[in-house]
This record gives sequence, C-alpha cells and structure tokens, in this order.
Amino acid sequence: MAGIRQEVFSVRSSFVNAYIVRGERAIIIDTGFPGFGEKILARMEEHGVKPGDVSLILITHGHHDHYGSAAFLKEKTGAPVAIHKEDAGALRTGVNPPLYPVGLMGRVMVVVSGMIKTPKVKGMEPDILIEEEMDLAKFGIDGRVIPTPGHTAGCVTVLLAGGCALQGDMIFGGLLRKHSPRFPYFCRDKEQLLKSIQIVLDKNPKIIYAGHGGPFTAGQVWRKFFSDI
Ligand SMILES: [Zn+2]
Ligand SMILES: [Zn+2]
Repeated sequence: MAGIRQEVFSVRSSFVNAYIVRGERAIIIDTGFPGFGEKILARMEEHGVKPGDVSLILITHGHHDHYGSAAFLKEKTGAPVAIHKEDAGALRTGVNPPLYPVGLMGRVMVVVSGMIKTPKVKGMEPDILIEEEMDLAKFGIDGRVIPTPGHTAGCVTVLLAGGCALQGDMIFGGLLRKHSPRFPYFCRDKEQLLKSIQIVLDKNPKIIYAGHGGPFTAGQVWRKFFSDI
C-alpha cells in the first residue's frame, strides 16, 4: 500500500464534522446526526467515491452527533460499523452516556443541549468492537486507530501514514474561533484526556482534524494544553 496517495475530505456543518478518507479504498470517520448521512454521500459523490468503495464506518466515540447516521450509511454502503467497546452501549441504545461538563461553558452547554431537540437516534449493533490499536490496512487505508480516552471512555483517534490525526472530540475548536483548540465542553476524565492528547502529539501529526471546528496544527495544540507561556 506504500506510495498510495491518501486524501481526507471534510464534511462540515456549522456544528459537527465528519470525514472521508480515500486510499486504496475509503473509510468514513463519524457520521453526524441523523440526516447528516445524505451530506456525506453527496460529498463522496463529488469526489468519485462510490458507496461500494467504503470499507469501514468508524465512530470516534459514543455521542449521537457522531454516530447518528451510522445505521443509514451502513445500509447505503454495506460497510461494517466500528466503535470502541467502552462506547458501544451508546451505539446499541442510541442514548448518550451522562455528560460531564467542563467549566462554566460546559454547564451552559449541558442546559442548552437539554433544550435543543435533537433527532432521535435508533440504536444499532456494532460490527467491530475496538479494544486495542487497530490496523486499517485490511480496510485499504495506510493508518491505524488508537484508543484516546478522556472525553468519553471509548474515544479513538485515527492516525494516517501521511501525518493526519482525526481525533473526534478530544480537542474542540472554539464556538467562535473554530481553529483555536480548546478543552471539550464535556469530559469524563481530564487527566486521561491530557494523556491521550500527549500520545497523539508524540506521533508528530502534521494536521489534527476535529469533530467540532478545527483543524489544528500540533504546535497550536501543544501551546494550548502543555505550555505555561
Ligand atoms: Zn463527544
Ligand atoms: Zn461531538
């Protein structure tokens, strides 16, 4: 597979992002809320990625703004859906685990998210449960998935051979300054989150894609989380 050019296509809305990675085959990373799947299919078509080219639908963690269209996309592409085993319960039931707010903004966001009517998500059984690192070679992608818990217990990050990291909600973009990395509004374990960020930075990613806002450089993330200056 070495030498194959891999491309990352972002699928963005004002709130949440999903990604399509094309190598020998294609994978979808996160799926947005129900309804967002159509947007992902349209973006695939724009780039000549056919539903049958998709070898995997990878969910970075068990929040419904990331797995809401997983069942729809599985039906359209026939690809298996993978999630870390710690977050699989959310995918099965369609119900988010409890949210642990960080700071004032986090508490505000819990209230806001309780008020916003989000589309109901139907639960589905995952096809692949991630436990440790997972090589993506068998899905036609030069890269791997590593567990990066903290935001939830089952968060994962995709590291591509070309130096891209796609990390879901471990690092948020600001609501107004989308390209400024910040703590997620919800975090199950802050210490674990920082360790996970460090693990990703240790891989020297050239670009870090996010589920909300972004992308960021490794330098921006390092300055935000680990520099006292
Ligand atoms: Zn999340
Ligand atoms: Zn999210």
